[in-house]
Amino acid sequence: MTYNYRHILLAADLSEQSAYVARKAKHLAQTFQANLSIIHVLDNIPMPDTAYGTLVPLDQGSSYEMLEVAKSRLTQLCDELGVEMRRRWMIWGVPGEEIVRIAEQERADLIVVGSHGRHGLGLLLGSTANSVLHHARCDVMAIRFPDEVAGSQPVSILPTSEGAYDSTG
Ligand code: AMP
Repeated sequence: MTYNYRHILLAADLSEQSAYVARKAKHLAQTFQANLSIIHVLDNIPMPDTAYGTLVPLDQGSSYEMLEVAKSRLTQLCDELGVEMRRRWMIWGVPGEEIVRIAEQERADLIVVGSHGRHGLGLLLGSTANSVLHHARCDVMAIRFPDEVAGSQPVSILPTSEGAYDSTG
């Protein structure tokens, strides 16, 4: 039996603070020499005719625009972390469900989430983190944001230089 993690799945909501969680996940992957995958779930964007879609678009234009923004942010994040193309996931659905589903499908043995994000501001544990913790069959690590990251100071979603919030090196 090995206690090493071999495949880490990072759940990225692409919020401003997510860069901090991403860097921690990257550091863990390096430490364990594990593969790193990233998933972003498009949850509240109305989209017609998809496998996940029960939602009807209210404004198709803005939906596609948001999709493009999410795509480009995810690409930027994955490029920065050096994540292989086949390990990048962007999926329509309920975040907690899709994160767990992809973790099982891809045989991840550790899921990394932020302790709270867009849905869980002010909570000890956000709703997505809570859901993943309850339903995942593998280990789950919830990364707590230090005050300087969680606070009101805006942070770049993807700092271009190694830096400001990277306490892990
Ligand atoms: P929340 O439940 O919004 O407070 O988010 C807690 C954590 O769950 C975030 O820091 C992310 O790691 C993850 N998460 C939330 N929403 C998403 C999403 N749409 N896609 C991927 N991960 C997410």
